[in-house]
Amino acid sequence: MKIAYLGLGIMGRPMAANLVKAGHEVTVWNRTTKPLEGAKTAATPAEAAKGAEVVWLCVADTAAVEQVLFGADGAAQSLQPGTIVVDSSTIAPQATLDFAARVRTKGAEFVDAPVTGSKIGAENAQLLFIVGGPEKTVEKLSPLFLALGKKFIRVGETSAGESAKIGMNLMIASIFEGFAEALALTGALGVKPEILVELINNSMIKSGVTDYKSSFVLTQDWTANFPLRLMLKDIRLMLAAAEGAKVKLPALGEIKKVYEQAVADGHANDDYAVTVETVKKL
Ligand code: NAP
Repeated sequence: MKIAYLGLGIMGRPMAANLVKAGHEVTVWNRTTKPLEGAKTAATPAEAAKGAEVVWLCVADTAAVEQVLFGADGAAQSLQPGTIVVDSSTIAPQATLDFAARVRTKGAEFVDAPVTGSKIGAENAQLLFIVGGPEKTVEKLSPLFLALGKKFIRVGETSAGESAKIGMNLMIASIFEGFAEALALTGALGVKPEILVELINNSMIKSGVTDYKSSFVLTQDWTANFPLRLMLKDIRLMLAAAEGAKVKLPALGEIKKVYEQAVADGHANDDYAVTVETVKKL
C-alpha cells in the first residue's frame, strides 16, 4: 500500500520502519527532517499525503495532530475520498471527534489507534493498538496493525480508542507510582531494591509495568522510552476527561504533583521512571 507516515519520534520511527519492512511504499515526514532507510522523505505533511491510501500519524500531543493535519501544508489538503487517516498519537478524545469530522468533510476516513507497548514494543512489532472507528474501516487496516503489532482491539466508534488509552495510561502511572513509593519506603527501611524487585517478580504484584521498568530502575538508566513530559501530558488528558465526565480521580491528582516536581527538577525529557528519584527526594 501507499502510506504516508507523519512523525518519526520514539514510537513513529520504528512503526514507519516496520511498514517499510512489510513491503509498503512509505513516504515519511517529520517536523525536523529525519530520513528513514527505504522510505521517501517529503518536505511537508501535504506532500507526504499526496496519493497515499493511508496517512498515519504519531506525534506528541493534540496541538501537534491539529498542526500536522490542518496547519499550513497540513495533510488534510491532500486527502482524497477513501483515504484513511490513522492517528496513533495519544490525544484528547474530544479533539479526536472534531478532527475526524473535519477529515470526513473531504470524503476521507478516520481511525484513532493509539498504542501501548512503548519503544521496545514498537521496535519489535509487538504493539497493542487500541482502536476507535467504523468497523469496516478498521477491518481494512487489519494487515497494517498486524505488521506493527501483536494485536488490535476495536473499542468502539471514533474516539473510543483514545478514551480507553488514557484509562490504560492511568493504570500505568498508578502502578508505577506504587512501585516508586514502595521503593522509597522499603529503601528507607533498609531493603535492597534488587531484593524488592525479586519479591515483586515472585508474587501477584508482578506486572508488565514492573517487568518493563525494573531493569532501568535498578541501573538508574533514565533514557526515555516514554518521556516524562508525555506521561504528564496524559495525566492532564485524564484529569480533563474526568472533569468532563464528572468522575473523581483522587490518587491521580497526587501523582500529577510528583510529575510536576520532576519537570521542575529538569527531568521532562527523561523517562517517567525517573519519578523513583522524585518520590525518594520528596
Ligand atoms: P517523541 O519521541 O517525543 O516524538 C514526538 C513526535 O512529535 C516527533 O516526531 C516530533 O517532531 C513531533 N512533534 C511534536 N510537536 C509537533 C508539532 N507541533 N508539529 C509537528 N510535529 C510535532 O514522542 P513518542 O514517544 O514517539 O510519542 C508519540 C505519541 O505516542 C505521543 O502522543 C505519546 O504519548 C504516544 N505514546 C508514546 C509511547 C512511548 O512509550 N514513547 C507509548 C504509547 C504512546 P520533532 O522530531 O521535530 O520534535
